[in-house]
Amino acid sequence: MAVTRTFSIIKPDATRRNLTGGVTKMLEDAGLRVIASKRIQMTKEQAEGFYAVHRERPFFNDLVSFMISGPVVVQVLEGEDAVLTNRTVMGATNPENADEGTIRKTYAESIEANSVHGSDSDENAAIEIDYFFKPEEIVG
Ligand code: ATP
Ligand code: MG
Repeated sequence: MAVTRTFSIIKPDATRRNLTGGVTKMLEDAGLRVIASKRIQMTKEQAEGFYAVHRERPFFNDLVSFMISGPVVVQVLEGEDAVLTNRTVMGATNPENADEGTIRKTYAESIEANSVHGSDSDENAAIEIDYFFKPEEIVG
């Protein structure tokens, strides 16, 4: 295994319920280090671009509306096999299917309002980090 990076979003359902700290603690307890973090209000254009891969899915418009319904916290996480480590602690997309002890089992409200995003590959992690952060904002 190697130390790699991934991209995380603490979604509006979590920031609204004051769970920024709770989610971040679970990420850190899983062995991930927060090497960049900022709270932002995404624009519609930013959210549409970020989720462009899902443009044809029936839930696309609702997903974009949800992601701009309040502030999010975007983060760069670093650790051993960061993409997989993060996906494991996040749990399944639908919280009903998520394992005990995962972020989504603990905090998610629904399949849409599921508290966190995490990159699904090293390649997408690099693209997503670049979408939200300048190199000088990442302090490893
Ligand atoms: P993410 O990309 O946010 O880390 P994921 O990889 O587990 O989550 P994707 O399939 O990439 O899930 O879907 C992206 C997001 O779209 C989900 O996190 C969820 O918020 C929303 N979503 C996915 N499937 C549905 C669905 N059937 N109905 C409503 N929203 C959905
Ligand atoms: Mg995904």
